[in-house]
Order: sequence, then C-alpha cells, then structure tokens
Amino acid sequence: MRDSNPLNLRSLIAGNYDHIYIFTHLRPDGDAIGSSLALANALKTGCNTVEVFCPDVIPSRYSFLPGVDLFQDSFTAREGKGLAFILDCSDLRRLNNMGDKVLQLDKIVNIDHHITNEKFGDVNLIDASAASTGEIMYQILQHDYELNYEISLCLYVAISSDTGSFKYENTTPQTMEIAARLLEKGINPSYVSQKIFDEYPASTVFLLRDALASLQFDATEKIAWMVVNDETLRKHGAEASDLDGFVNYAKNIKSVEVGIFFYQTDNKETKVGFRSKTVDIASVAYSLGGGGHPRAAGCTLRGEPEEVIDKVIQSVTQLFCKG
Ligand code: AMP
Ligand code: MN
Ligand code: MN
Repeated sequence: MRDSNPLNLRSLIAGNYDHIYIFTHLRPDGDAIGSSLALANALKTGCNTVEVFCPDVIPSRYSFLPGVDLFQDSFTAREGKGLAFILDCSDLRRLNNMGDKVLQLDKIVNIDHHITNEKFGDVNLIDASAASTGEIMYQILQHDYELNYEISLCLYVAISSDTGSFKYENTTPQTMEIAARLLEKGINPSYVSQKIFDEYPASTVFLLRDALASLQFDATEKIAWMVVNDETLRKHGAEASDLDGFVNYAKNIKSVEVGIFFYQTDNKETKVGFRSKTVDIASVAYSLGGGGHPRAAGCTLRGEPEEVIDKVIQSVTQLFCKG
C-alpha cells in the first residue's frame, strides 16, 4: 500500500486555531458519521476545542460509535480562530443552512471522494479513486496519530459502509489492505455488520413492504423505481433514514441497469437516490442539481411529485439513447 501523507494534519492545526469544527452532510451515512468521529476522536486530546456537526439526526444504528454524542445539529461559530473540516460532502448545499456560516470561518479543509465535489475549501483534498472518505481519513490519521480501537472502529464503519461491506466495484486492494490494518486493531467485522445492517426494527421491514409494492419499470425493464412519501413513513412510525438501502432492491433485479428511489416529503421536495450497475449516474444527478459517484448518486428536486418522477425517468432514459 502506498504510504502517502495527503495532508499534514499536525502542522495544519499546530497552535494556529482556537476551535476545530468538523462538519458532514445531511442524511448522514456510515462514511459521513464514521469519518467525522474518527477525526474527532483523534483530535480531541489536542489543545483546541473540537465540535462535530451534521444538519440531520444521526440514525440510531450508529449509536454504538465512540463519540456519537458529540454530534450537534445546529452551528454557531465561537469567538476566536476557527478551522473547519468538511467531510464526505460534495457541496455546501449538503450542509443545509450551516453552509453559509461555515464560509465565515478562518480556514476550510474539504476532504472528500465525490467526483462531483465543488472544491469549496481553502484546502481541497479530493480523491475520487478512494472508495470512501474513511479511506482518505485513514491515510491522513495513520501518519500522525496512534490509531486506537475507537478511531479504528469509526474508520472501519466508514469504509465498510461506502463499499457495501466490500462488495461494490469501488473496492480496491488498498481498501482491503486498510481494512486488514483495522482488523489488526481489534475490529470485529461481524459485530460491526450486525450493528449497522442486521438490527432493523420491525417497522423498517413493514416500510420496505410498502416500498416494494410501489416498484415500477420502464418499457425496457432497464430502469426500475420505487416511491415512498412522508405519509407512508408516518404510518409506520419510521424516519427517512430507515429508507437507506431500499434502492438496491430496484437495482438488484437482473434486467435493471439503474435503480431509483423517490422519497416525497410533505413540502413538495423529492429526494432521489440512484444506483447503477454500469452507466455513469453521477452525471445525471449532477445535471439535476445533485451529485455523487458513478454508481451511486442523488439529488433533491422541488415540484409536483409525478412531474419530478417523469423528469428523472426521462433524464435516465437518455443515458441509454446515447451512442
Ligand atoms: P443516497 O442514495 O442518498 O445514499 O446517495 C447516494 C450518493 O449520492 C451519496 O454519495 C451521496 O453523497 C450522493 N447524493 C445524494 N443526494 C445528493 C444531493 N442532493 N446532492 C449531492 N449528492 C447527493
Ligand atoms: Mn456520504
Ligand atoms: Mn462517502
């Protein structure tokens, strides 16, 4: 494994800042949460204050992670010099209303692996070849810090989440080598997998039943989609984060190239999640105002729910008309 040091963290923070703020994206996933907590756990013994922010609640399945209670969902800058790390976040819109306030801090370090990253930082460390932000954080942290069990656990959650437990095509030899180093620190993959993927409340499975009932295809059966709205969530006492991963049921059908999940909120916003087997879906998401990776991307659209669905299906259909 190449032993590069992509960012000299110790010299970056050495004595120059009173406060360190770590931010990650709304609707946080394991990579967002794990990367942020790995960094927070590493930096917390320094002489700066360290705070962690996410504009949404952290799903309860991550509550076993060390430091998860540090997360705050609203941000006000403190008096004094502030350094912000923004992790796993392709653009500042993904920080909701925290985005503008972040820009007022003294330095912004943007660490990410999205190909659509808008490079909004003073320092931009973007590696689209990394399977997760956790992988980049491992490279940074292992250079200067002792990777104890707590930090290793956070990194493992980040890395295993964004690779679908090491099965997506973004998984590389480097991903596996980093995972091996983390296992040497005492991480138990079975325990982590159980915590994140195998402890659903029954309400999530009933929600899945309704989501599957909405499954539809285009005429070619290359595109499949499911739709859920806030009313359905309320019916099951479920939260939006319970929908994570549902899109894979559409994508995993044999004939399907692109699976799409539509989540319609009460205020006429539709959150769209894309998963693809072979075509580049990030470009479609980006053209609709969102972003992501070639095989996993998303966007949020406003408007009449049915019109949004038509527009998105049309955009995806275009992918198969080219060439
Ligand atoms: P999801 O379907 O929500 O799991 O998202 C899949 C990928 O698309 C993740 O890498 C997200 O970071 C990205 N993504 C989802 N929604 C958006 C959005 N509104 N803007 C930019 N990127 C997004
Ligand atoms: Mn993420
Ligand atoms: Mn990620």
